[in-house]
Amino acid sequence: MRLLIIGGSDAGIMAGLRARELDPDAEVRLVVADAYPNFSICGIPYHVAGEVPDWRSLAHRTRADLEKAGLGLLLDHTATAIDPASQTVTVAAPGARSQALGYDRLIIGTGATALRPPITGLDSLGPADGVHLLHTMTDTFALTSSIEKRAAASAVIIGAGYIGLEMAEALTRRGLAVTVIEQLGQVLPRTLDPELAQEIQAELGRHGVDVRTGTSVGAVRRSPDGRLQIGTSSGTIPGTDLILVATGVRPDTTLAAAAGVPTGAGRALVVDRGMRTHLPGVFAAGDCVHTHHRILPEPTYLPLGTTAHKQGRIAGENAVGGDASFAGTLGTQVVRVFGRIAAATGLRDHEARQAGYDPLTVAAVADDHKAYYPGATPIQIRITGDRPTGRLLGAQLAGHYGAEIAKRIDVLATAISYGATVGDLPGLDLSYTPPLGSPWDAIQAAAQAWAAAVRTVSDAASAAP
Ligand SMILES: Cc1cc2nc3c(=O)[nH]c(=O)nc-3n(C[C@H](O)[C@H](O)[C@H](O)COP(=O)(O)OP(=O)(O)OC[C@H]3O[C@@H](n4cnc5c(N)ncnc54)[C@H](O)[C@@H]3O)c2cc1C
Repeated sequence: MRLLIIGGSDAGIMAGLRARELDPDAEVRLVVADAYPNFSICGIPYHVAGEVPDWRSLAHRTRADLEKAGLGLLLDHTATAIDPASQTVTVAAPGARSQALGYDRLIIGTGATALRPPITGLDSLGPADGVHLLHTMTDTFALTSSIEKRAAASAVIIGAGYIGLEMAEALTRRGLAVTVIEQLGQVLPRTLDPELAQEIQAELGRHGVDVRTGTSVGAVRRSPDGRLQIGTSSGTIPGTDLILVATGVRPDTTLAAAAGVPTGAGRALVVDRGMRTHLPGVFAAGDCVHTHHRILPEPTYLPLGTTAHKQGRIAGENAVGGDASFAGTLGTQVVRVFGRIAAATGLRDHEARQAGYDPLTVAAVADDHKAYYPGATPIQIRITGDRPTGRLLGAQLAGHYGAEIAKRIDVLATAISYGATVGDLPGLDLSYTPPLGSPWDAIQAAAQAWAAAVRTVSDAASAAP
């Protein structure tokens, strides 16, 4: 069995490893456009910050590890066409003639590319001018070399999503004065409600980051002195050394779409839960595909490394004859911004309403551990549940680093995955010792606050004349 995989990041590598694990006789080859297979691009901000000084440490596995596992790696090779009829992929490499590689099964894991928003002047500027996107190791090297060559003292980040904020911290740690510009009215607009986003924005401010929300960038240009000028809806930023554009990603579907794979939500490739495309013997996984959701009826687009790992493994299993199925995402995320952590899972109020639920979102604040034990800090929690059924639909948390925010969002994600109601949460047997928790964990206190709010609303409704 010849399995060909396009892409050597989370999805492609997981697919290859799983296929070889289940079928050690399969010939597994990966065509990878760059020279950095299986690198943790999620770790890029920590390398840029200097917390992970050696970029090589970002490799989940070394090239030797991958080859030992039976993966044939064609690095710096780009797939340029898929011909489903002849079951071949055309591959190009610098200085070599194009070749056609045959396959019995094909897995597409081409991922996503960073968005370049329509800002006047942006298209004519690039890394040589100090203007950067960030999605690959090559982008990372360009950015770090720009910082060094330009002796950069300031940077403007366009976009206050999680990558924008992780990079705001990273560049601040490197000694740059950082401004973040976000066109929406809050930071982390796709992750958090404004009430919690305020806490994260305040933390950025405490560390000297100038955050300008509700501000859009209209134009960028290079001044004669080599510095960059940015025109925004609230005035001009006269000179900065670097611009980092972090306004999201789009699925990289050119190759697959040209071969006839339809696109759906988020213009990503359509696959079934077994990661099969419409083309016989062709699978796709990771940031290039749409995402089946656990509680939304239709697929959405939620590109995350966690999801790419799972989908890749399923594609690899099914490509060698298995019948695995992707259970779906909840978009569970956690992000560190200096000393604060924000996390979310499931649906926010407006998303739940759009999906046909009758949601109620209730805010609560509870300490991460018993107040008498030193170091207790408050966690802000927002629980979203379906009013008529009580079903837990989503949750958001913000609090201090060390307050076990990630553990708590994961408990909530697990509960949603198994169809729990908000009322089920207080009954969970969660761990407790005073330095780490309370007899009623913070999320259980928040669930009780949600139940009380529902009672208040229904009492008020039944008392109405
Ligand atoms: C800075 C940053 C931080 C992040 N942090 C997190 C995090 O904390 N948690 C989280 O869950 N997610 C995070 N993500 C998202 C996560 O990294 C992605 O969801 C994940 O990498 C997707 O993996 P993928 O394999 O689908 O695609 P990609 O990582 O985009 O890889 C695509 C692969 O395909 C190859 N390729 C593309 N086209 C071709 C072609 N024509 N021929 C050959 N090869 C090709 C590329 O070279 C690459 O190997 C972060 C992303 C970034 C950029």
